[in-house]
Amino acid sequence: MDGTLRRLKGIGARKEALFARLGIQTISDLLQYFPREYEDRSRIWPIGSAPTPSPTPVLVCGTVRSVQELRPRRGMTILKVLIADDSGAVELTWFNQPFKKKVFHVGMDVAAFGKIEWAYGRRQMNSPETEQGGLSPEQGFVPVYGLTDGLRQNDVRKAVREALAEAERCPSLLPGWDGGRSVCGGFMPELQAYEAMHFPPSMEVRRKAREQLAFEELFDMQLGLLLRRRQEGKQMGIKCGPNGSLLKQFISQLPFSLTRGQTQAFLDIQADMESEVPMQRLVQGDVGSGKTVVAAMALTKIVENGYQGALMAPTEILAIQHYEEFLKLFRGLPVRVAVLTGRTTAKERDALLEDLRRGNIQILIGTHALIQKDVAFCDLGLVVTDEQHRFGVRQRAALQGKGRAPHALFMTATPIPRTLALSVYGDLDVSSIREMPPGRKVVKTYAVGEAMRRRVYAFMEKLMAQGQQCYVVCPLVEESETVDLQAATALYEELRATVFKNRPCGLVHGRMTGKEKAAVMEDFQDGRISLLVATSVIEVGVNVPNATVMLIDGAERFGLAQLHQLRGRVGRGSQQAYCILLSKGGSEETRQRLQWMEKIHDGFELAEKDLLLRGAGRLFGYAQHGLPDLKAADIVRDISLLTAARDKAADYLKGPVDEETIYAALERRFGTRFQGLLNN
Ligand code: ADP
Ligand code: MG
Repeated sequence: MDGTLRRLKGIGARKEALFARLGIQTISDLLQYFPREYEDRSRIWPIGSAPTPSPTPVLVCGTVRSVQELRPRRGMTILKVLIADDSGAVELTWFNQPFKKKVFHVGMDVAAFGKIEWAYGRRQMNSPETEQGGLSPEQGFVPVYGLTDGLRQNDVRKAVREALAEAERCPSLLPGWDGGRSVCGGFMPELQAYEAMHFPPSMEVRRKAREQLAFEELFDMQLGLLLRRRQEGKQMGIKCGPNGSLLKQFISQLPFSLTRGQTQAFLDIQADMESEVPMQRLVQGDVGSGKTVVAAMALTKIVENGYQGALMAPTEILAIQHYEEFLKLFRGLPVRVAVLTGRTTAKERDALLEDLRRGNIQILIGTHALIQKDVAFCDLGLVVTDEQHRFGVRQRAALQGKGRAPHALFMTATPIPRTLALSVYGDLDVSSIREMPPGRKVVKTYAVGEAMRRRVYAFMEKLMAQGQQCYVVCPLVEESETVDLQAATALYEELRATVFKNRPCGLVHGRMTGKEKAAVMEDFQDGRISLLVATSVIEVGVNVPNATVMLIDGAERFGLAQLHQLRGRVGRGSQQAYCILLSKGGSEETRQRLQWMEKIHDGFELAEKDLLLRGAGRLFGYAQHGLPDLKAADIVRDISLLTAARDKAADYLKGPVDEETIYAALERRFGTRFQGLLNN
């Protein structure tokens, strides 16, 4: 069944491409593209008590008292229409729309919908939508969607209406499936629930619809995770023996003693590797908590059992950093470590692949280059993925496919609270490293206002004069990468032409190719650049010990987890490091968030605060953890729904089920990402 958007009236190639940018490819995707908020046209405010200034547009009705046209200068007109009801008056204004004047005359009733502000002590509504006769132009709640350049609210609204109509004719286009629905048993038919999400008659009905759809969505997700687990259980993995002398030697020659968290994480890994079910474990720990050495121990264990191991990192810089560290860690041990990246020359590569096939290389470190077709191992027993959220599921699966049911270890520095880990990672075991190695200096963190900008620059200049390096992260502008890029470029040009004209500056942003980015990062790493201006794309895990300042401009725009990740880029050397959160202030919530950043340095604790504050999974990069990003459900707020859905899904799987039907249903709801996860 062709469920693509093209099937809808009014959607051609151009709109199709615009919707694709929002991740919407099918009618099912579109139906699950829920409004960000709603304009409330269901209630008519008495003018005198309408919220002023109003954060969102409001609807008022009144009688026209005066119509006035001003011509402050040639070619400019301002139309002012004063309307009033029993409670007060508001002035409606339009610029350069002279034709509007004929619409209004004193004494007529008018409904107006717009934002109200104070102007010289009067209420004012700028360019409202109006309707004569005092009726609302559109009753009820009107959806407001997230947009992309070139797509307007009305385009999305219209497309959604078309999609609902199409789904009514052909119910199989709806995201849900019969099996799921029969178990979940909602109050309203599925189509009606989607209608209520997009065009709710009341917020109460919308709430019910959301809860119902969330439950079905969570049920489907858990079903997928449980099915996958079940399949894995059927595979026989590599049963390792108890720890031997190689591992003991490796540990004894470490230049430090392991922290408690590292030891515990390794004990978990060891138990997994000594059982015959293939390991599927995630190690989460803050940046700098020492995950690499834990991975190295797991790799040593697999080598000791006669197998090869692979470590995949998201960038070339990281891969090489790991390689250099491994050379030190394995010095004097009979373990051959090699590195393979996009830059390995053809000749080196040929020799390396030959050695790998013959089993002369025990540990191979690399980038995506590891998953190329001709990379073949002699006997791959363990696959480690560093910064796992940076890889697609398919990439991780491709590497695992190079062995027969190898053990898999994932590492991430984006922590999520323990209470959630179980439900979110329904299919992974999780170990958390909570403490930092001893002797770490905390990154001194200051939240400051715009007034401090000059002083911050002066402070950075002083440190750079001493040979230290700085990062500047630019404000994040929602919904437009183009605007982000412009802002970053503007800031970069300004800084290097003025305050920091004596310092070598660099710029990295998301539109650069991997190669371009790597070149700039390398310049920074090697000290050829002192000041690095970046959009929020700064490479995860990169280690530049000489960088001591992280200035985050527009810090109010970032979530706690992201701020913490960015802060983790500094404080890796022996010098005191600083994180400066420059913001234009903002809501109480924003202030609270920045204060927590000043006080709290533990990623897990911050993630828990984030949970308290926002209650929204997407904020700590939930989607990044490799699961489909949920549409109706909120993994945090709906934790009890989730638990219930999980139980239902487990029950469901106890009966006779047709796996193919379930997979087809899940693919329709979640798209290819989920299918990839299941095939993993
Ligand atoms: P991450 O968890 O961010 O990957 P790394 O593994 O890169 O952290 O470790 C950061 C630094 O800490 C490395 O230089 C590593 O050598 C060092 N390190 C790791 N474990 C310990 C420890 N137990 N004691 C002291 N230093 C450690
Ligand atoms: Mg790391």
